[in-house]
Amino acid sequence: MTHAGLAVHQWSYKVLRTGERIVFELGVFADEFEHPYLLNLSQETLTDILVAHLGRFPHARIAWNTRVTGLVQDDHAVTISAEGPDGERTLRAGRVVGADGAHSVVRRAVGLGFTGLTWEDRLVVTDLRFDLSTLGHAGASFQIDPEHGALIGELDRSGGLWRYTYAESRSLPEETVIDRMPAVFKAVLPEGSDPGLTRWSAYRVHERAADRFRAGRVLLAGDAAHVTNPSSALGLAGGLLDSFVLAEALAAVIEDGASGQLLGSYAEARLRAFLDMASPLSSDSMRLALHRDDPTRLEAEVEHYRQVTGDRDRLREYLLLSRDLETRSLL
Ligand SMILES: Cc1cc2nc3c(=O)[nH]c(=O)nc-3n(C[C@H](O)[C@H](O)[C@H](O)COP(=O)(O)OP(=O)(O)OC[C@H]3O[C@@H](n4cnc5c(N)ncnc54)[C@H](O)[C@@H]3O)c2cc1C
Repeated sequence: MTHAGLAVHQWSYKVLRTGERIVFELGVFADEFEHPYLLNLSQETLTDILVAHLGRFPHARIAWNTRVTGLVQDDHAVTISAEGPDGERTLRAGRVVGADGAHSVVRRAVGLGFTGLTWEDRLVVTDLRFDLSTLGHAGASFQIDPEHGALIGELDRSGGLWRYTYAESRSLPEETVIDRMPAVFKAVLPEGSDPGLTRWSAYRVHERAADRFRAGRVLLAGDAAHVTNPSSALGLAGGLLDSFVLAEALAAVIEDGASGQLLGSYAEARLRAFLDMASPLSSDSMRLALHRDDPTRLEAEVEHYRQVTGDRDRLREYLLLSRDLETRSLL
């Protein structure tokens, strides 16, 4: 996986108006961590890797182009209805994990709500053939500015393909995002530059969690269970952390006869990790980089990060915050 992605050894906050760079050097922990870098890896590439790994397990089957339409459960099993290339089908399973994304049919079928908020801004995600390192951005970077805040990242090893994500009010019409885009780039790129736009999309962003991550024999994981804004890149990461602990707990219950309580523990621990850590951390980042509703707070936070990067112990503590998102083995 390391070879498929782009290792990023520096992460930076660049203050647009002054040009100041606050740099988080990840390499200073080379003696402590096996992988002291961020790995920028597209979700498409990650999916290819996962499918290839799954192919090594003879009992694993992927039903491509098949859509779960509903499910019911009784004391013994879950009955799933699905529609695929050969029409409708029914499956019975002892346990079901709903990992079917934010609009989860599984979550709805078991009657769980998805509580939280939707940010007032929409995010506009653009992929640019423009080397943003020439403007002082590291491979993972926040552009700090009350007006032109952005999340910036280099996408792959091709050299020069970057993602530039900015926010705009959802009160502006979605159909005219593209009409407003030239002014956005004009404000931040050198005069006369072509941003090299290759693709773009606009998203609503949410902080939401299912009421519970377990309903009887049905478990939830990933975006089906929780969604957060992408500024801290904790969405997919949170789902992976769910899967590590859930896979182990499920195997123990199904294969080794461990108590079903383990699955309840999974559900509680992962809900707490989201509510107490992932969503608050991401929301702080969103306010710092994209949702600039308080300029005084913005300056105070910039000063805070100046100090963090100037002190190895504080930097270490800060970088390790995301460790608290993990749930230790429940066995
Ligand atoms: C703009 C943006 C940027 C992001 N950047 C990052 C980032 O940098 N880092 C990060 O960690 N996260 C990021 N995220 C979040 C990340 O994309 C999600 O957290 C992640 O995709 C969730 O994975 P998932 O497998 O749970 O759900 P999904 O990726 O939504 O996958 C759900 C799967 O279920 C399938 N499915 C849906 N309904 C059904 C059904 N009824 N029957 C059968 N199958 C079904 C879908 O086809 C899909 O394959 C970003 C999100 C956005 C919007």
